[in-house]
Amino acid sequence: MKVAVFSTKPYDRTFFTAANQSSHHELVFFQPHLSMETVSLAAGFEAVCVFVNDTVSAEVLGALKNLGVRLVALRCAGFNNVDLETARTLGITVVRVPAYSPYAVAEHTVGLMMALNRKLHRAYNRIREGNFALDGLMGFDMHGKTVGIIGTGKIGRVTAGILKGFGCRVLAYDLYPNPDYASELGFSYVSFDDLLKASDIVSLHCPLTPQTRHLIDAAAIAKMKDGVMLINTSRGAIMDARALIQGLKSGKIGHLGLDVYEEEADLFFEDLSCQIIQDDIFMRLLTFPNVLITGHQAFFTQEAVNNIVDVTLANITEFERDQQCQNDVLKSLV
Ligand code: NAD
Repeated sequence: MKVAVFSTKPYDRTFFTAANQSSHHELVFFQPHLSMETVSLAAGFEAVCVFVNDTVSAEVLGALKNLGVRLVALRCAGFNNVDLETARTLGITVVRVPAYSPYAVAEHTVGLMMALNRKLHRAYNRIREGNFALDGLMGFDMHGKTVGIIGTGKIGRVTAGILKGFGCRVLAYDLYPNPDYASELGFSYVSFDDLLKASDIVSLHCPLTPQTRHLIDAAAIAKMKDGVMLINTSRGAIMDARALIQGLKSGKIGHLGLDVYEEEADLFFEDLSCQIIQDDIFMRLLTFPNVLITGHQAFFTQEAVNNIVDVTLANITEFERDQQCQNDVLKSLV
């Protein structure tokens, strides 16, 4: 199949080209994000392959349809950037990679917790400058602390398992609690408010939906313990960044670890080190010593990227052969 691959980086080309030896699709790599400005690049292609910050709005889908595109292949799990109703109406199939390595994201989540707790980001800089003082670097034992996991799907469960290994007490909240997971991993489901009230660390692992947009806002932060650690490796818009800044300024939030940010599409995955960044909220977040931000890299392990590429190519092959696919997002939501 002829596929226009948007938002590509050198590593995407390397992994896709190697895996495509056995799939034989015609892949053309484009650096820009898919948007109304770039959609004309898809002319002559039957499929587009997109990532987390591509825009697959109603308008873009309409333009894709007019160009003859029949398939949108997401090379990620989340599909919050796709207008699914419009895709359904236009008869465009949307496929995704539902799971590629929950370990990659869960391990990065715990990495953020540990780096913030033990101030590794600050220690790294101090030692390089010959400053061996420990003032300001005191952390806490993870053992015995209460961690609240919001969303106990694939990533939330692996995160809970790692934290149980540290000797943490794990509480969880999910729209669809699964008592089997809870007894197997040794965590307890509680209400959203009880989780916020009781947790020393709150970690987000639910998808971005209309219901979870700004789930962590000023009202939610007010219910948390003083000095709480907040971690978001899920989607930026689940947290209200303005409320985070207020929480950090007042000391209510003691540590903040982000791998995602609501307005990340204008920032992440690019080298902007020679530019003036215009996002004042993001830049304010960077000024706090107790904030650690990574640029949507939680998924970025060899194993995960290999799986993403293999499943994406298999999805395209399946669609080409059968005009349908087991990883069809619209069918999974019926
Ligand atoms: P999953 O579908 O396996 O699990 C999501 C869980 O969230 C489910 O148990 C679901 O019931 C629950 N949920 C849905 N709505 C909820 C709500 N309103 N309140 C509480 N719980 C709710 O997904 P997953 O594979 O574990 O991934 C979780 C999220 O992680 C994805 O949606 C994606 O946004 C994010 N993610 C980030 C990266 C990264 O690199 N940072 C990589 C992969 C996934």
